[in-house]
Amino acid sequence: MNFKYVIVGAGLAGLTMAERIANVLDEKVLIIEKRNHIGGNVYDSYNDDGILIHNYGPHIFHTNSRSVYQYLSKFTEWNDFWHRVLTYVDGNLVPMPITVETINKLYNLNLDCSQVEEFLRKQAVDIPEIKTSKDLALSKVGQDIYSKIFENYTKKQWGIDPGELDTSVISRIPIRLNRDSRYFADRYQGMPKHGYTKMCENMATHKNIKIMLNTDYKEVIDDISYEKLIYTGPTDYFYNYKYGKLSYRSIEFKFETYDREEFQEAPVVNYPNDYDYTRITEFKKLTWQDHRKTTICKEFPGAEGEPYYPFPTKECKAQFNLYAEEIKKETNIIFLGRLAEYKYYNMDAVVKRALDVFELMVGRKE
Ligand code: FAD
Ligand code: UDP
Repeated sequence: MNFKYVIVGAGLAGLTMAERIANVLDEKVLIIEKRNHIGGNVYDSYNDDGILIHNYGPHIFHTNSRSVYQYLSKFTEWNDFWHRVLTYVDGNLVPMPITVETINKLYNLNLDCSQVEEFLRKQAVDIPEIKTSKDLALSKVGQDIYSKIFENYTKKQWGIDPGELDTSVISRIPIRLNRDSRYFADRYQGMPKHGYTKMCENMATHKNIKIMLNTDYKEVIDDISYEKLIYTGPTDYFYNYKYGKLSYRSIEFKFETYDREEFQEAPVVNYPNDYDYTRITEFKKLTWQDHRKTTICKEFPGAEGEPYYPFPTKECKAQFNLYAEEIKKETNIIFLGRLAEYKYYNMDAVVKRALDVFELMVGRKE
């Protein structure tokens, strides 16, 4: 087989590159995907009861990038969706991220915005040099809120103490000195009107794009000649674990369907201190599907299984940097996406990165 471009992985990174190559360059491209579907981790599907679920956990699109929003809008319409999360603490459900209402509910107070600012200033721990996620949380909210909301959730999610994770993890969650209880504050937020899989199918539907499913690229790559390989799988696997296995965090998703219309008060409820799971998602509250039953998903993090999260610690980044040196030497292989670049990318960041990499590849950007 002969293709000018071969892409490993049909997630958002691979599909964005394939779409650009097919449409802009009018070149043929082969995507090799080991799963039995396209979309990577944004894949959604209808379960046996006909409820649309996100097979790899809740995915909410949000971005401040107009260009990413406009790009994806070519392949989907959107339902307006402002994500809301509640977290279960001391027997109460309180809004996440932390807002004025969270503080008032947690401590049975009735403070206004400036009083909450003052309250948090008094709680905050003075940490001269903020090096870890724990430092960051303590310096913003103090020990008590840290213990109630961040410490145990983070231990469950990552299997290590927040004092070992770099600041990028907990800094994903803002602290709001107002009453804005949206989980994300980005300018553009939404759910693809007909689901992520449909959006991905629209990206991939082109005469120039061929997709080989159920195939690990190593089974076939020696029989394919290409000029450029775009690799979006795990980098350690690509290099046969030359510098050891990279750590990823995995999750077991357990789905349950209930014969009632509603399960919980919000699309996602977090459980920092109770149970082995971190959060429960109720899909109908993401997708607005009308159905007499409802399906939920509990997330049980663990070390083994599909690699979902690159590990944001100094040691893991240092190990990845050994692979990064190998990557630099490659002349016809591009490493792209959450797995290959070992970066905790959101969907919009992956699409942005792929669009930029495409422009670099064709020489339209330095
Ligand atoms: P992937 O989607 O992982 O795609 C890589 C593809 O490569 C996979 O399909 C894989 O099967 C394939 N592959 C791997 N190895 C091989 C091989 N050897 N041969 C062939 N194929 C191979 N982002 C948001 O913006 N909002 C959210 O709400 C959000 N929620 C998330 C929740 C969870 C639980 C997780 C895990 C992620 C979430 N994300 C969210 C992040 C989002 O999923 C990623 O940013 C995005 O899917 C990354 O796309 P990708 O193409 O880089 O990787
Ligand atoms: N986090 C937490 N408590 C929460 C929610 C999040 O401690 O109730 C921390 C935790 O370390 C988590 C990180 O913030 O890994 C990022 O949360 P986010 O919801 O962005 O995680 P994702 O959706 O990527 O799993």
